[in-house]
Amino acid sequence: MILSALADATMVPGPDAQPRDRDRLGKGTAVNIVELIAKKRDGGVLSDDEIRYIIKEYSADRMPSYQMAAMAMAIFFRGLDPRETGTWTDAMLHSGRVLDMSELGPGRVDKHSTGGVGDKISLPLAPAAAACGVIVPMVAGRGLGHTGGTVDKLEAIPGYDVSLPVDRFKAVLAEVGCSIIGQTEEIAPADKRLYALRDVTATVESIPLICASIMGKKLAEGIEGLVLDIKVGAGAFMKTVESARELARAMIAVGEATNCRVITILTRMDEPLGRMIGNACEIDESVACLRGEGPPDIEELVVVLGGAMVEVAKGVSKEEGQAAIKASLHDGTALDRWNRMVAAQGGDMSKVPVATHSVEVRAERAGFVQLIESRELGMVATILGAGRLKAGDIIDPIVGMRVNAKVGDKVNIGDSLVTVSYNPARPASEAELARILAAYTIGDDHRELGPLIIERWG
Ligand code: URA
Repeated sequence: MILSALADATMVPGPDAQPRDRDRLGKGTAVNIVELIAKKRDGGVLSDDEIRYIIKEYSADRMPSYQMAAMAMAIFFRGLDPRETGTWTDAMLHSGRVLDMSELGPGRVDKHSTGGVGDKISLPLAPAAAACGVIVPMVAGRGLGHTGGTVDKLEAIPGYDVSLPVDRFKAVLAEVGCSIIGQTEEIAPADKRLYALRDVTATVESIPLICASIMGKKLAEGIEGLVLDIKVGAGAFMKTVESARELARAMIAVGEATNCRVITILTRMDEPLGRMIGNACEIDESVACLRGEGPPDIEELVVVLGGAMVEVAKGVSKEEGQAAIKASLHDGTALDRWNRMVAAQGGDMSKVPVATHSVEVRAERAGFVQLIESRELGMVATILGAGRLKAGDIIDPIVGMRVNAKVGDKVNIGDSLVTVSYNPARPASEAELARILAAYTIGDDHRELGPLIIERWG
């Protein structure tokens, strides 16, 4: 059982420990953070006490980020076994408050994605699920690596507060049925730090770290069920179905051990989702979906993932859940929840910035789009200011791309493949535009991607 050793948390030095004692772990064992990094680097297995010590020291600012970066890289290469993953997850979860949401009633279900390019699904999905009677207390993340993040996208809405205190979070949930915030100093503070650190240290693609990051914040929300969108493909952190299944198994096991029903749905991430990549532009595309006018792939994912949320929350069939979500996108009820959530969190949709400068990347040969290296598009968007290259980088909400040609489309020489929106203070360079062009494979044969939904577990 993945969380078998969770109760064994007794040997961490307390807050009264003297400075030298803080370097020590357990009953006088002279082990310090440097030795623990070396242990994992050399393929050793960390004990429960050691893991809890690491998370505790890091959360309390006694373990500098360069040591945690080294530890994350050691884990990236050496992994964590199931017991270590369970304990790491539990330590992350208990770095902050675990909310009791029972006063909001039953039907508390959330969704999370492992991250993809143009993945804005949470934005229309949370209000759509709320419109169907699900209570959605969503703690989301910022951009990670080449992928965008829900919290950064929401911050493109002037005034929107992603750091609500717990009381206010609960009040918005009671009033609207959904609220989306980021990790705070109260909820999942260890993930708040480690997530930002992994983003800029190339340590995201680690199954145990992804499992602990996601489950460590989701279980803090006081939910009864969780739908996980595990992205698979060239634009995802999980490149193969087998690695995605491994992550699914780890997260289902954590859910089973904590009495939270987990459904994992593996979905394809071989080209950007929808048309828009960025922050303000993805808000626009999400609102289009909430008006029932979104791109088909976005609507399909909202319906399938949201449908599973309704299924868990309301005990209805998969088909009934999906039909309810689809109806909410087309009858205005999901859009109404979105407007109420944004207003309740201080946001002003009329002030979402719009890009004024853009440049086209054009096809240099005719044919069919056969492949788009979406990771490359995500990376160039990040470099231009839609994401972060180092901790603390400021996101520029107007930077983004419109993907004009997707896989299977026929293009002629000179047709626009991508429209790049940039800030005139940081125009796209020739090399960056060339990188976008090189991300496209155009050939003579027409090719289609496989189905968006690969498989479901749980
Ligand atoms: N989403 C998260 O919250 N954490 C990860 O590590 C990856 C995706």
